[in-house]
Amino acid sequence: MNNNCSLSKYNLAKPCRFCSNMIEYLPFEEMEIHNVIVYFCKPCKAEYIFFNDGMLAAVSLYTTIKNKMYRWSVISENNAQLWYVKFPGIPGFKANDGMSTVLSFNNKIPLLNPLNINQKVTTWLLFL
Ligand SMILES: [Zn+2]
Repeated sequence: MNNNCSLSKYNLAKPCRFCSNMIEYLPFEEMEIHNVIVYFCKPCKAEYIFFNDGMLAAVSLYTTIKNKMYRWSVISENNAQLWYVKFPGIPGFKANDGMSTVLSFNNKIPLLNPLNINQKVTTWLLFL
C-alpha cells in the first residue's frame, strides 16, 4: 500500500461532518479498482465513500449491537439503508463481507450521528 502517493492523487481529506477531525484515507484495493475511494473517521466510526472525481457517494456510520455490527449508509437526502455486516472489515485493510440490507428509507431519512445511532438502531431492531 502506498499511502503518500495515493493521498496526493486524491486529496479528498476534509473535516468529519460529525466531529470536525480530518477524515483519514483508508483505501481498499478491491474498491479502488471500481474507482471508489474510502476515507474514515475512527473516533466516529464514520466512513466516507468518494467517487474518484471527488464527489461524495455515501456516508456511513457503524455501530455494534449485541455483538452484531450494523452500518447506516446515507446516499442522498432521501436514500439511506441500514445494513447488517456479518463479517466486519478493518478500515484500510479488509472490506466488509456478508452484507445484507435490514431497512431502507426512500424519503425523510432519520438523522443519525455517532451519539444516537446505537439507540436508534436498537429501537428499529425491536420492530423487525
Ligand atoms: Zn468524526
